[in-house]
Amino acid sequence: MAATSKPRRDRDPADIDDLAGLRAAAADCTRCGLYRDATRTVCGAGPAGASAMFVGEQPGDREDLAGEPFVGPAGKLLDRALRDAGIPRDEVYLTNAVKHFKFEQRGKRRIHQRPSVDEIRACRPWLDAELRLVRPNVLVTLGATAARALLGASFRVTRHRGEVLDWEDGLPLVPTVHPSSVLRTPGDGRSEAFDALVADLESVAGALRRHAPS
Ligand code: SF4
Repeated sequence: MAATSKPRRDRDPADIDDLAGLRAAAADCTRCGLYRDATRTVCGAGPAGASAMFVGEQPGDREDLAGEPFVGPAGKLLDRALRDAGIPRDEVYLTNAVKHFKFEQRGKRRIHQRPSVDEIRACRPWLDAELRLVRPNVLVTLGATAARALLGASFRVTRHRGEVLDWEDGLPLVPTVHPSSVLRTPGDGRSEAFDALVADLESVAGALRRHAPS
């Protein structure tokens, strides 16, 4: 009898050996309930071998529709901050701690909801697989959800933003704010918040120079 192929939804992210395979398998993920209302799984974007991996919270409304991370206003602001900090965009892999958009429907609008601890935990194997396949030299967390996913629930971004921390296996990790928090900063404070984000990314650029393969 011919062997039957295993359904993709049963694949363990730890068994996947390239990013294309990871995207295909994650498209069928039902590890938590977020797949039910979102349009699609949004995995990371960028090359395997990118020197920096940036981890945000979850795809937003635009990302859910486009199927790509960081394509909305926060992504455009992050692009500007990367440019100002001297980090080439094509050396960056951008992803999220949670791969489906969590929202509350209010009329025609879909309002962002923060993912729960259980949802972050359920999605972690996909993030671990991305880390294993991309093998960045520096890891960057954007915002509280990503920082807590990788550094624990008691971690405070405001206390440690811009610091180069030692993460697992000595991988440097730099926590900073999510670019959407810069967009939410009212009035004149927004330009200051943007400059603070760029300063944190300059720490990332320094860590990339120090940890570049010789
Ligand atoms: S959020 Fe993550 S764990 Fe939950 S269904 Fe989507 S891909 Fe799977």
